[in-house]
This record gives sequence, structure tokens and C-alpha cells, in this order.
Amino acid sequence: MIPYGRQSIDEDDIAAVAEVLRGDFLTGGPAVGRFEAALAETVTAPHAIACANGTAALHLAVLALDLGPGDVVVVPSVTFLATANVVRFVGAEVLFADVDPDSGLLTAETLRTALARADDPSLVRAAIPVHLNGQACDMGEIASVAAEYGFALIEDACHALGGAYAADGKRALVGAAPLSAMACFSFHPVKAIAMGEGGAVTTRDPELARRVARLRSHGMTREPGAFSQQDEARDPEGRTNPWYYEMAEPGFNYRACDLQCALGESQLRKLGAFLARRRTLAARYDTLLASLANVVRPVPRLSSADDGWHLYPVLIDFPALGLSRAEVMTRLKDAGIGTQVHYIPVHRQPYYRGLYPGLSLPGGDAYYERCLSLPLFPAMNDNDVDTVVNALAGILTDTA
Ligand SMILES: *Cc1c(COP(=O)(O)O)cnc(C)c1O
Repeated sequence: MIPYGRQSIDEDDIAAVAEVLRGDFLTGGPAVGRFEAALAETVTAPHAIACANGTAALHLAVLALDLGPGDVVVVPSVTFLATANVVRFVGAEVLFADVDPDSGLLTAETLRTALARADDPSLVRAAIPVHLNGQACDMGEIASVAAEYGFALIEDACHALGGAYAADGKRALVGAAPLSAMACFSFHPVKAIAMGEGGAVTTRDPELARRVARLRSHGMTREPGAFSQQDEARDPEGRTNPWYYEMAEPGFNYRACDLQCALGESQLRKLGAFLARRRTLAARYDTLLASLANVVRPVPRLSSADDGWHLYPVLIDFPALGLSRAEVMTRLKDAGIGTQVHYIPVHRQPYYRGLYPGLSLPGGDAYYERCLSLPLFPAMNDNDVDTVVNALAGILTDTA
């Protein structure tokens, strides 16, 4: 079976985790800081805060911006559930935006259309552009709209570790957050690097970094400089009491442990190789799929070199093919090929239909109706790509 995505684990990854198991700290130890430093360096951000998963990263980001009841946050409808759910976690309202029907991305235009639908645009405090499939949104244009309306941006970069985009005429790596408050990553095994479960927030803002780090661990701090109750923090001689900690606001236990971070650090060293392999496989798909172009075409990608290549979705005209997507998926599965649909537009979920009834987002629907993610992961070989394309071609000719 060729799955649609999977992790690549080598002996050195196993050794890195085993070393933690033999050491003193399973959590709260030095592997966490090492991973954070390596990630910050990789994405050229001054601050990286590791956490339990990508959903926790997004939740911490909305908490750090003080979003809450009465606030409105724009979320593109074609994304994983978590992007919208974190907005609800803090009691804010989700303003779903449509996406480009071919790329599935939030654009400045679809963002503006969503803002025009807001009862009171001044209540919009943030938007969460999603770098779907590994392809970055046009952050320059989106940031202009955000500046015009005066709201913050949180990048959902869960698909896009290793990707890049233009910011102020320069190439910025995804995660450097030149135009956003924060970028959020997931290190779930199907993503660019695997930590089992894992995530991170990156930012240029030291205050946001401190807040995210504090919220990650119950809202507590042990930094003497951050204590507000000096009389309780210190002994009569003014020395900080060794047991003392303080909580300014309730946070969560969203920490990543040393086992996860050691794996993450080891995986991060291979990011360049993983990405190069994904890019090569994608180029092979592009070439081989050209012969099926009348029915199957790859989601358009602006720049292969800047793409994180998390997923390789194609757009299929199922009605023209005379087969449903379910039939195509089943036939591919029978041929040993796993595929997936990324994603059911979130506004169509029962919970969100109940909250925001009657919402129609035709761009997202058009993307959803045609998309199918083909297998893409670094351990695939060229033959696997040929197998997938041949199986797809076989299904197409069967029905022709
Ligand atoms: C994976 C993913 C998340 C959530 O990450 P987890 O680590 O699974 O919690 C959020 N947004 C997008 C776009 C994702 O792909």
C-alpha cells in the first residue's frame, strides 16, 4: 500500500529518542530548547516555542493576541478543522472566507469579500491565512488588507515548513513571520517533519514569544523579573524564594516533551533533503500527468522552489469522467494507492452550519468538489509515482 503521506524515520532518529530515554529528563529537559533553537534558525525567526501539536500552536497564538468574545477572526473555509476551532476555543466568532477555486488559497480578494460580509468590520481582530498544500498565500497583499483594516495575521503554516514567499521584495522563509504576528506549525507524522505529535509557534515579537511560552505551561513563570508579588517572591533579605512561581493568567499544559523534541531536532536536520525529494517527486507527477490533462490537472503552484510540497492534490472533473470521487478513491485503494481529500470546507460542518447558517462559499466548494491528494512523501521512489499515474490513467481509459 502506498499511503498518501507518511513519516521517514532513520536509525539516527531512533538513536536520538533512545538517548533521551536513557537520560535524566523525559520532559522539561534540554532537548526542548535545542529543538526550539534549531527550528528558529531553520526558519530564520528570532523565537520558536515548541508545543504539543499544531492545534495547540494555533490556540496559543489566538490566546497570545488576547482574542475572545466579541472579536471576529477570518478563517479560510478550505483548511483543517483546527484553524477555525481555535477561534471558538476562545469564544471569538469565525468569519469564514472563500478561497481561490484552483489553488484553494485565501487571497486578498476573498479576504476583502469576507470583510464586506462582516456586520462590523472593526470587530475583526485577526485573520489566519493557511498555506494550503505547502504553497504560501500572497502574504504581501493579505498583509496590506490587514494593515488597512488594522487587524493581525496568524499564519497557519502547518503545511509549509520549508516553504517561502516574497515579503517587501525579499524572499522570506515560512515561519520567519515578516508580515504576521506569528506562524504556527504541526509536526504530525504526515507533515514535513515528524514528532509523533508536535507543533510550534514562531514569531519576531519577544513579548508574544514570552506570552506563548507562559500560556504553554499553565500560565506560570519562574522568571524573577516577571513577578508582580515581590513580597511573596522574596525573603526578608530580598532574595528570590527558590520555590516561587507565579501565575498571571490560567494557561494550558501544551508542552512538547524531550522525546518529541529530540525526534524533531533529528528530523529537522533532514528537512532540506526531505523537501528536495518532495520537489522531485512533484515534478515527476507534473510531467507524467500532462497526458491526462483534459480530466486531471495538478493544483497550480506558483513556484516549485518556494513550495513546501506538503501535499500533491490534483483537480479532477469527476462529472466529465463519469465516475464519482468515491469510485476513483476506491479503485485506487484496490490498486494499493491511498488518497485523501483536503479538505471538506469547514463551514459545511454541522457545528458551523448551526452557528452560521446559509453561508455559501462557491470557490471553496469548487475546490472541494474536484480535489484529490495523491501520495507524496520523501520515502516514495520514482516507480511509486509511475504506479499512481498509471493506475489513474487506467481508471480514466476504462471509462473513456
Ligand atoms: C495538521 C494541521 C493542523 C493541526 O495540527 P495538529 O498537529 O494535527 O494538531 C492545523 N492546520 C492545518 C492546516 C493542518 O494541516
